[in-house]
Amino acid sequence: MIARARAAGVVRLITVSSFIGDAEACAALAARHDFIHFTAGVHPHEAKSFTPEAAEGIRRAAALPRAVAIGEIGLDYHYDFSPREAQRRVFCAQIALARELKLPVVIHTREAWDDTLRILGEERASEIGGVFHCFSGGTAEARRCLDLGFFLSFAGPVTFKNARDVAEAGAFAPLDRVLCETDSPYLTPHPHRGKRNEPANVLLVAAKIAALKGLTPEAVGEATTRNLEAVFRLA
Ligand SMILES: [Zn+2]
Repeated sequence: MIARARAAGVVRLITVSSFIGDAEACAALAARHDFIHFTAGVHPHEAKSFTPEAAEGIRRAAALPRAVAIGEIGLDYHYDFSPREAQRRVFCAQIALARELKLPVVIHTREAWDDTLRILGEERASEIGGVFHCFSGGTAEARRCLDLGFFLSFAGPVTFKNARDVAEAGAFAPLDRVLCETDSPYLTPHPHRGKRNEPANVLLVAAKIAALKGLTPEAVGEATTRNLEAVFRLA
């Protein structure tokens, strides 16, 4: 899968933690491949199992070589796998950790725009910056995220025929604030929808962003690589 990503032209790959303990596996993978970096963090689904020891684990992982961000962190009011009160508490705690470690954040937000943006504002997250991963909003939400100084990372849904709002946001967002991702193994872009997703498919996302903006896929690839290097401080 990594070889296919390379062959497709992927030059930077971020493997993202969701669960307590993921970060160590991500760090080990990143250590074997120069073009891979990783994040450490606890997904809102897992907020209920966030402990002081988990925070220590994130701190340890974030100190390893090739760690670039704290994430995925955020709020998911669609599934509510953890109580919302716990999600908000753990989100705040991890933003504070990111501020302390001077790392950007990778945000997961679903059906929770108001609380997500309010907490990011209150916790002064714009001082560290970061990415809204798998951006799912329309232009109104895009504007609010951009105003906070964040980048918008588009994934498979921008290629879906029924995702008009996200496509409008993709057309609207300035090229120097856009990233492309796959969220593998989920959210496989058109025309492979229904199959397991993998990093090589990021080219389909970039091609869609290019079509929305009237640019070449190469121009989008170059810009999003530059943006990735800027937000994760790899330049
Ligand atoms: Zn996510």
